[in-house]
Amino acid sequence: MMEEASLTGETQHGDYDVVIAGGGLVGASLAAALAPSGKKILVIESHPPDSARQPSYDERTVALTHTARVIFQAMGVWEDIRSMGAEPILDIHISDRGRSGQTHLSCKHVGTRALGYVVPTRVLGSILWDRLKPAGNIDIACPGRVVESEPYRDHCQVKYESGEHLQTVDCRLMIIADGGRSSLLKQHHLEPRTFEYPQSAVLCIVSVDRPHHGRAYERFTDEGPLALLPHCPLNGNHRYAVVWTTRNENLEARLALEDRPFIRLLQSSFGDRAGNFTHPSPRKSYSLKRSTLCRPDLDRTIVIGNAAHTVHPVAGQGFNLGLRDAAELSEIIFNTPAGQVGTPSMIDLYYDSRARDTKMVSGFTHSLVSIFTSKRLFLPTARNLALQAIEHFPPAKRFLLRRTLGMHGRQSGLALGIPLGE
Ligand SMILES: Cc1cc2nc3c(=O)[nH]c(=O)nc-3n(C[C@H](O)[C@H](O)[C@H](O)COP(=O)(O)OP(=O)(O)OC[C@H]3O[C@@H](n4cnc5c(N)ncnc54)[C@H](O)[C@@H]3O)c2cc1C
Repeated sequence: MMEEASLTGETQHGDYDVVIAGGGLVGASLAAALAPSGKKILVIESHPPDSARQPSYDERTVALTHTARVIFQAMGVWEDIRSMGAEPILDIHISDRGRSGQTHLSCKHVGTRALGYVVPTRVLGSILWDRLKPAGNIDIACPGRVVESEPYRDHCQVKYESGEHLQTVDCRLMIIADGGRSSLLKQHHLEPRTFEYPQSAVLCIVSVDRPHHGRAYERFTDEGPLALLPHCPLNGNHRYAVVWTTRNENLEARLALEDRPFIRLLQSSFGDRAGNFTHPSPRKSYSLKRSTLCRPDLDRTIVIGNAAHTVHPVAGQGFNLGLRDAAELSEIIFNTPAGQVGTPSMIDLYYDSRARDTKMVSGFTHSLVSIFTSKRLFLPTARNLALQAIEHFPPAKRFLLRRTLGMHGRQSGLALGIPLGE
């Protein structure tokens, strides 16, 4: 990125209905959903989607829920995602290491084709960005870094660095989608309520000596959850994406392990239920936090995605929640006459419609981590009994699944499979 000292200070004015700061998973999903809206959009993103420095599209895979699939289908991008290697999750096996309690959740319990799909974030990024390029109503400034937004009653002024220039544009509505380390929230002195987990996630892909048959595993260990997600095969090799929660004090040692001892440790932590693991890909770690932003009192501005709420990846909810933000918001913008975009009533409509889902998902994932990592007296026994109870009580399975799949409460039209404008 350009040094600020080298900027020429050149200014260019343009008018947009919507400016989106951040073209990561959530910002790009919103822009792609808005392609048919006719509204004039500018997406400003610091790193091109295929850049090694892109923080949203990297080596990670994300588990998309059934609802995410429905949203992408209604946006017209699902076929591309599916054909580029989305691996279906047909069922999930949940267990507590060292105890007998376990349960098994299947797509049959909720009557869907799959519970979700495992997709590499790079694949998702390239498909979403391909959708933006030909859209006549969408301009892209990339690489471009938003340095400031100045909200007024009737418009918002946005300043961003592009090459050696400092550009200034006006818009009716500014969307902050610059992720969990949002510099724009800092600029506005908006402090999300944050809890740093004493854990990090270690991610890699491993080969396995037998087919996964679409089964994902979530195993709760003393250090936190260890997830295996079915991954698309490579050269005939069956594979899992591993998301391994690790206490921060053990992180360095775990990352320093050579392939063989790493696989040995993984195998002993998980057991042999899924087969024998081999060939781990290079490991990458992510620090974990929960953050929630109270409704900001900023004219002409809406905050979405990880900038508004970051959750533990235990149940694969973060992007799914952000995608539901994007689906709801695109629908509201689509249905609002251009002159009304960004008015206080439009902004309130958005925040009111997203409050319940956000609170539920953030609270649910945090409780899951707390319950399954706590060593408080009786809790291990209680959760063991709870897993056994869920296993034998199908309505509990349905209840749990409908919440984790985003099939609860009021839903946007896109989440119900209705394309914008129909
Ligand atoms: C280990 C791990 C596993 C996960 N697994 C899952 C999963 O299975 N399922 C799931 O749903 N979620 C999962 N998540 C969560 C998911 O990755 C995030 O919720 C998602 O990336 C949030 O997207 P975002 O666009 O809001 O933010 P980000 O992904 O952080 O993207 C922000 C974008 O804004 C850009 N940007 C930043 N500042 C500026 C600026 N000033 N100007 C312009 N651009 C800027 C960045 O370059 C970036 O492209 C996981 C997260 C982790 C850490």
